[in-house]
Amino acid sequence: MAKIDPWGSSSISNYEHVFKAFGLKEFPDSMRSALKHRFFKRKIVIAHRDFEKVLKRIKQKKPFINITGIASSGQYHLGHKADIDLFVFFKEQGAKNYFCVCDIDAYASRPKILTLDDAKEIAVQNAADALALGLSEKDIYVQSNRDKKYYCFAFEIGKKITAKTFEAIYGHLDLGKVSANLLQYADIMHGQLPEYSGKMPSITGIGLDQDPHARATRDIAKRLSYDIEVPSFIYFRHQSGLKEGSKMSASEPDTAIFLNDSEAEVKRKVGNCFTGGRNTAEEQRRLGGNPDVCKKYEIDLFHLEDNKKIKDIFDKCKAGKRLCGDCKKLTTEYLQAFLKKHQAKAKKNLPKAKKIVYGK
Ligand code: SF4
Repeated sequence: MAKIDPWGSSSISNYEHVFKAFGLKEFPDSMRSALKHRFFKRKIVIAHRDFEKVLKRIKQKKPFINITGIASSGQYHLGHKADIDLFVFFKEQGAKNYFCVCDIDAYASRPKILTLDDAKEIAVQNAADALALGLSEKDIYVQSNRDKKYYCFAFEIGKKITAKTFEAIYGHLDLGKVSANLLQYADIMHGQLPEYSGKMPSITGIGLDQDPHARATRDIAKRLSYDIEVPSFIYFRHQSGLKEGSKMSASEPDTAIFLNDSEAEVKRKVGNCFTGGRNTAEEQRRLGGNPDVCKKYEIDLFHLEDNKKIKDIFDKCKAGKRLCGDCKKLTTEYLQAFLKKHQAKAKKNLPKAKKIVYGK
């Protein structure tokens, strides 16, 4: 039986096998054409559960809930930026927005974070990044500063999942992760309670490795005493780390490009990342490179907005008309330019971010 571990560190490559094992639907081309974002066109969104309900609301120009949470043990990296880019896209489609900075989850499930105060400090940086990427203050909340109803709801959810079920889904009963998960389920569903936006379809974009959370949430939603829609999910293609076979990790600085990285760090990291290039320039000209395994090309695929440039990089790489040195230079330069602007915006948003986290 296939196993997906949301806390694991290896990448998932056999998507079809995973779809089949867990009953995910492949994201159909007919839906892609209706959604004008690069993640759909470029097949970065690969699968879904009940996305039809949300698409119908978008087409009817009716509201739906847009909910995403990020638990980070440090600064956000480009993987988190991709989550937020998708969140911003749904915000622009008329959603009711719930972006959660999961500070309690991060504290409870990441051994590296020693105190809740440390988690809150990280949350301030994370919220400033989310604001700089296009969210407003009212789109964001932190778990540690949410209202009473949210916590009561998390406890009500606790009664709907047994230790046995939890163990069957996640393979362990780590109490920190159990408590973090109860909040995570509440994050996804609380927006549909009458105290918030009320019953309506909701969408959450997640990595394929987070599917155990989605399955648990959907199962609980069907058994709650509240009348709510079963949450819908869309699944990202895995955005891997900069090294071969690695995952981007906030705890391992060299696996990812972070939103606070300096120009020199970006240059070093892109310069050292794993590519699909050949051993020599002569071989590359003769045989072409392999963008499908190239981490630099993967960064472009997720973050370079220009579709023509992406196609040009892919085609010329394959044809041996591009060498990795020049190719890395292009990526280094646009990332450096983006991050310079982003870091200035995030700095400006720090007072707002502190208010979100500490309430003053
Ligand atoms: Fe990757 Fe560019 Fe090298 Fe092709 S030429 S393998 S896309 S770095």
